[in-house]
Amino acid sequence: MTEKKPAKMSKKDLDYFEALLIEKRRELVAAQTESTDSNTFHSQKDQGGELAGYSNHLADAASDYTSLETNFDLAAREGKYLVYLEDALTRIKLGTFGVCKICQQLIPKARLEAVPTATKCVNCKEETKKKEREESKVEMARLFAEQQRREQIQKSQS
Ligand SMILES: [Zn+2]
Repeated sequence: MTEKKPAKMSKKDLDYFEALLIEKRRELVAAQTESTDSNTFHSQKDQGGELAGYSNHLADAASDYTSLETNFDLAAREGKYLVYLEDALTRIKLGTFGVCKICQQLIPKARLEAVPTATKCVNCKEETKKKEREESKVEMARLFAEQQRREQIQKSQS
C-alpha cells in the first residue's frame, strides 16, 4: 500500500492567495471604518432631535436602536469573516492553505478565488452538510418519539 503524499499548494499559488486575502482584509477594515463614521453621524442627528416632541423623540430612539442593532449584527458578521481571513493567512504561512481539511486534497483554485476562506472542497462540504442533515433528522425523530412517549404517559395517567 502506497501512502499518498500530502497535497500542498505551490509557492506561487500561495503568494497569489496571500495577496488576495490581504486585499480582502484591507477592504473589510476600510468598510468597518466607514460604518463607524455613519454612527458618528447618527449621534449628531440625535442631539438635534432633543428639541423635537416627546413622541418624535421616542420614534427616533426606536429607529436608532434598530440601526444600532443592525450595525452590531453586521460588525459581528464582519468580525467573524475577519477571523476567517486571519485564519486563512495563517494557513498560507503554514503551507496548509488550499488543502481540504477532510480529504487532504487540493481545493480547486476557482473555488478558492470565489471563497478564499474555504477549508473544505465542494465534495466534502456537501458531505458534511448531508451528514448534518441526517443527524438533525435523527434528532427530530428522537424528539418526536419522546413527545409521543410523553403523550402516552399523560393519557395513561388521566
Ligand atoms: Zn475534500
